[in-house]
Amino acid sequence: MSDRRVTRAVILAAGTGSRLGEGGDPTPKPLRPAAGVPLLVRVLRTLEHAGIREAVVILGHEGERVRRALVAEPSLGLELLFVNNERYLAKNGVSLLAAQDFIDRECVLTMSDHLYSPELVRRLLAAELPRGACALGVDFDIERCFDLDDATKVAVGAGKITNIGKELERYDAIDTGVFRIGPELVAELARLDDQQGDCSLSDGVRALAARGAFHAVDVGDVRWIDVDTPAALERAEAMLRVFGDHLGDEPGAGAPAVIDADGMELFAPTWVRAAKPYNEDHFAVAEKTGVARLMSNESPFAPSQRVIDAIVQAALRGHQYPAGGPELREKLGSREGLGGEHVLLGAGSTELIDVVIRTFVAAGEEVLLSVPTFSMYEARTRVSGGIPVLVPMTEEHEHDMMGMLRAVTERTKVIFLCTPNNPTGNRIAEVDMRRLLRLGLPTVIDEAYFELGEGASLSHLIAEYPNAIVLRTFSKAFGLAGLRVGYALAHPTVIKLLSRVKVPWNLPAVAIAAASAALDDVAEQEARIHELKSARAELGRALSKIPGVVAIPSEGNFILVDVSHARMAVDRLVQSLLAEGVLIRSLGSHHADKSYVRVTIGTREQNARCAAAFERVLGRRVPREVQVPAYVGGDAE
Ligand code: PMP
Repeated sequence: MSDRRVTRAVILAAGTGSRLGEGGDPTPKPLRPAAGVPLLVRVLRTLEHAGIREAVVILGHEGERVRRALVAEPSLGLELLFVNNERYLAKNGVSLLAAQDFIDRECVLTMSDHLYSPELVRRLLAAELPRGACALGVDFDIERCFDLDDATKVAVGAGKITNIGKELERYDAIDTGVFRIGPELVAELARLDDQQGDCSLSDGVRALAARGAFHAVDVGDVRWIDVDTPAALERAEAMLRVFGDHLGDEPGAGAPAVIDADGMELFAPTWVRAAKPYNEDHFAVAEKTGVARLMSNESPFAPSQRVIDAIVQAALRGHQYPAGGPELREKLGSREGLGGEHVLLGAGSTELIDVVIRTFVAAGEEVLLSVPTFSMYEARTRVSGGIPVLVPMTEEHEHDMMGMLRAVTERTKVIFLCTPNNPTGNRIAEVDMRRLLRLGLPTVIDEAYFELGEGASLSHLIAEYPNAIVLRTFSKAFGLAGLRVGYALAHPTVIKLLSRVKVPWNLPAVAIAAASAALDDVAEQEARIHELKSARAELGRALSKIPGVVAIPSEGNFILVDVSHARMAVDRLVQSLLAEGVLIRSLGSHHADKSYVRVTIGTREQNARCAAAFERVLGRRVPREVQVPAYVGGDAE
């Protein structure tokens, strides 16, 4: 239909675009760059590519700045016309009215922040429309929509729009933001504006649709995206990188000659981009000869001969995939009076912490923690896009139960509690645990140090509370940190749920064999635990004799040491001890006016070396008058 060739486009660029500006960037939205090119420039280039010759740009918010940027843009070949919409804070139909003199014929109408392939415009223009009808490009592939909540939905019947809006309950397609319009739409908008004093584009579309005069043109598989939020901008940039400036059909068309390694970040979600990698420098430091490794809560005892023999046997079948350790699960379950279906094995309990979070927490949902505690709860939450909610313990290192309960919101998905807690070394009372479990939320009870404590396990609570997940590890009392074995005890239904997320074959056969043999080594394990407890008591006493040092009683294989009165910055203390051949963990300051270090229980010789080093480094530096509580470690020896 040569007489109806559409060569004019109208572009809505008057709004404030506040959602994209959430990051604090004051650039007006049409000028926000996507992969280096302002959004509106991209839209204009696309229109030009689709055969449009004239673009009527409707300006409002920061209009002069936008106009100047476009006029100065050398890459645009189409004729630019500008219209000012004084009422740019009103709804977007008013913007269109500001340009009504130009809509005396069929035009393309587009937003300034929707990026799309020129093919979308071509398909819209190729549609056969009766005179006086308008059309909207719609996408029936709803799954593709990046931000469905915010998208404008369209109900379609017999190729025509029957309803349009963001809140439609039933809809068939998504509004791409690219229209084919004429004077009829302007007339409807003018009438609505007269009646209501305002009008949105959707109001006008609905009015025409009611007369059967608004068609829905299926855009098929062409690519488009509404760049409305920072997350959508990131997605758009990744799309441009893969599919080129025209978001074309052929992946790779837009690829630069050399693929930039730093650009890989574009494909990662924001929470992965924000994640800090685990810093393991301390392992390299500890490798230096003569250094006592008292920084990572490892066992000082190497695996027994029985464990080594089991590892060698399992290694002989190293060419085969490991099964999921059914015998080990049975063995672990029976120790608690439970069946193997209550047990899930992980590559260390850290993997299970991660599995619990990935099972229950979606991006933007919350995980409740009582801090200070093991850092991986927070780290793994962040890397999944979850939000850690940190409730500080009291000055006396008690969990703040009221604080925890108050911090629960409708977004809370998991609670983590560590007992005995790393690094404070104390346990949570069963009554308090029950108060939390009664909330019904998935609740992890991390008993990594349980074997080294005096109290009973809380694993019996899983019979009463299917929301309780008890975690244990072979890394501490059993001394297999390097073999990576942990396990969860929970209701079988919860174990099945977690198993869906866990990677199969996650535990190497040698690790399963080692854990199983360690469990059989009952006498050896009991002797080691006894020795560690007794060494802990001895180290606690030795440290507490040093002026300015308070060793806090612990039920773990470590002691939290309050060095607030030691008159030496924590990091300097750790450095000075390292110079003496003892590596411990600095905990900075987790209470405003106190500072702590954590010392792992080593061999008697290492512990003695540690206490002597503390004494040498701090001994003469503290004024005698500072009074500190005596060590009251309650370990049975
Ligand atoms: N939970 C707690 C409380 C810990 O302190 C640790 C290790 N420091 C772990 C879990 C993880 O242990 P693993 O992954 O080695 O089983």
